[in-house]
Amino acid sequence: MMSGFSRSRAAGLLAGAALLTVAACGSGTAETTGSAATPASEAKPEVVAAFYPLQWLTEQVGGADVQLTTLTAPGVEPHDLELGIKQVSDIQNAALTVYIKGVQPAVDDAVAADKSFDAATAVTTLPAGEHAEEEEGHAGEEEHGHEEIAYDPHIWLDPSRLATVASKLGERLAAADAAHAQAYKDRAARTAAALGTLDQEFTKGLSTCKTKTLVTAHEAFGYLADRYKLKQVGITLDPETEPSPARLSEVAKIAKAEGVSTIFTESLVSPKVAEVLASQVGAKTAVLDPLESKPSGDYLSAMRDNLKTLQTALGCTA
Ligand SMILES: [Zn+2]
Repeated sequence: MMSGFSRSRAAGLLAGAALLTVAACGSGTAETTGSAATPASEAKPEVVAAFYPLQWLTEQVGGADVQLTTLTAPGVEPHDLELGIKQVSDIQNAALTVYIKGVQPAVDDAVAADKSFDAATAVTTLPAGEHAEEEEGHAGEEEHGHEEIAYDPHIWLDPSRLATVASKLGERLAAADAAHAQAYKDRAARTAAALGTLDQEFTKGLSTCKTKTLVTAHEAFGYLADRYKLKQVGITLDPETEPSPARLSEVAKIAKAEGVSTIFTESLVSPKVAEVLASQVGAKTAVLDPLESKPSGDYLSAMRDNLKTLQTALGCTA
């Protein structure tokens, strides 16, 4: 309204004087009325990230141009997330919700197709493993039922796939907020480059190892194993359930045959099952972070910690 008034008033004056009047009027308005006077084009788009790795990625690509909210609080298992009224309204009001279909049934049900970005659609997915059957189990408990997910949703544990997601996210944010399109694309390119560097470190660091077998408590590392030519053997379908004695002895047999020295566990689930197996096969346990919740550092530093843990456990020499 203010600028319309200024313009019509300016039109009636001599050009030089009019410009001065508009400029003075404009700056005075911004100072006295604060954010209420901010033009709509300068309001930051609200963006919602479903859980940690997507939060990190959106921070990198969105930068200061977006208003970011994360649905899953630190320390919370994302698969079991239930949405409160505020979170549902955050999703409804957001210009974009960044999620991965198949990780959180409650989020899958709440997003609108035209205002969401399913990161799994940006990459080549792997078929669902045993862990994914567990996810379907969670989904089956949902009131509305849930679409079956035929792929493993843990795509963020492969830095090269996450780099592809970063580029696509840059394009989506650029489309949602055209005024800052170039900034989104530039940050996306920088993020993809940082992930490319991490990918090279993993490739080199895991190229020469005594064993390539990765025994994990929670079968979340399928993409990491796929990318760096490791073989993942998961102990349980559901990290919160005791494995059957048959499954335990089967994994113990593989672990012995493959010369496995370390059974991997993670911070959000009890290490009990991994410890039982480790003592059976004379191995140690170590924490490998699936990054389903915020680590103490960030995505890059936590992945570098994972790389060191893997190099020690697998006996890599690079
Ligand atoms: Zn998981």
